[in-house]
Amino acid sequence: MTWDAIVVGGGPAGSTTAALLASDGWRVLLLDRARFPRRKPCAECINPAGVAALRRLGVLDRVMEAGPARLEGWRIASDGGPSFLGRFHGGVHGIALPRETLDDILLRHARACGAEVREGLKATDLLRDGDGHVRGVVAGGEEVAAKIVVGADGLRSIVLRRLGLLARAPRLRKLALTAHVRGLGDMGGCGTMRARGRRCVGVADVGGGLANVTVVVPAEQAHEVGGHADAYFDAALRESGFVDARRVDDVLATGPFDCPVRRAVADGALLVGDAAGYYDPFTGQGIYRALRGAELAAQTIGAALRAGDTRAAALMPYERARRRAFAPGERLQRVVEAFVSRPRLLRWAAGRLDRRAQLADAVIHATGDVRPVRSLLHPALLRQLVA
Ligand SMILES: Cc1cc2nc3c(=O)[nH]c(=O)nc-3n(C[C@H](O)[C@H](O)[C@H](O)COP(=O)(O)OP(=O)(O)OC[C@H]3O[C@@H](n4cnc5c(N)ncnc54)[C@H](O)[C@@H]3O)c2cc1C
Repeated sequence: MTWDAIVVGGGPAGSTTAALLASDGWRVLLLDRARFPRRKPCAECINPAGVAALRRLGVLDRVMEAGPARLEGWRIASDGGPSFLGRFHGGVHGIALPRETLDDILLRHARACGAEVREGLKATDLLRDGDGHVRGVVAGGEEVAAKIVVGADGLRSIVLRRLGLLARAPRLRKLALTAHVRGLGDMGGCGTMRARGRRCVGVADVGGGLANVTVVVPAEQAHEVGGHADAYFDAALRESGFVDARRVDDVLATGPFDCPVRRAVADGALLVGDAAGYYDPFTGQGIYRALRGAELAAQTIGAALRAGDTRAAALMPYERARRRAFAPGERLQRVVEAFVSRPRLLRWAAGRLDRRAQLADAVIHATGDVRPVRSLLHPALLRQLVA
């Protein structure tokens, strides 16, 4: 049998794409090498635009029943210097919950919408015809045919690599260590990022008395982690002042994150979520982009299937929509990374933003995808920055 679409990867991008296509009546196979619920290295914060996307998908009620923490803003602390707090306003907020819960809800939703979901099934290659047009995947040693293949298989996407669309090796080389802890008490509804040199520790309440701690280690210190991720993580937590925290699960390690992609479409295939390109987790926009990217992908795939044309040219509306939606945010991420990787610059910026709450809130709204990045260029805000 030939599926209308095979979606490789059941994270937020894949499950959402599968759910939307299946709801429109397409025959969709969603496969993931993992069995759910599964953990995923992530700081587990969904920004306000991501919350809105979950609402549009029709799963927000189920997510809220799982008891996520409410995220009202972020405090960013420079190393040995000032910190600033940026808050969301006007009823806007993010949420945070463990990825094993969120991703399981999204995968079940895809199944409920009519997608055939196969867990524990790994895609290892693409099938192509004589012209190079993708005609399906090899998964679990078998050939499975489809009119279109969606690569939603994350940062180390096999679909991306087999399509030859990876632009270059990562330049920004960081390592992240993630685990859940107890004992941090009330965090006032805000996440915290504490820089120590070029290392950064992010902490956010994820509900149920748990907090997510993510330690981002720059490349030059990665050798210190060696094979001792748990011990390094515990020490980083203490050194950052979180002395009451007790880790409750194993530390997950991942990196590097910089994954530049030449384009997200090919003949018979399309990339979504991290597989379509990623840079850095500091601003916490990945889940939103996975959900929003899936919406954009499903629109284009539906039109391509209806027209019976899945060549790259027919998938270009998705490529253009992605660029319009995400390119400004990616540029902002690079600016943020330039500050985070230079402790003196971060101290200077934190000092300025600490005394200019309106500017701090504007930055948090832009990284929360609530306001466009260009809103930061408003003359009144720029005057505040240089004043
Ligand atoms: C340290 C860190 C912290 C982060 N913190 C945040 C945050 O706080 N907020 C935020 O919004 N974003 C954050 N992100 C980014 C976010 O985690 C990702 O952007 C998001 O998970 C992307 O979703 P996805 O569906 O594209 O990929 P994933 O969630 O990675 O899902 C990919 C799926 O594909 C499956 N898969 C992989 N290969 C195959 C294969 N060959 N065959 C079958 N299945 C396969 C995997 O098992 C997985 O289930 C963070 C990222 C990192 C690394």
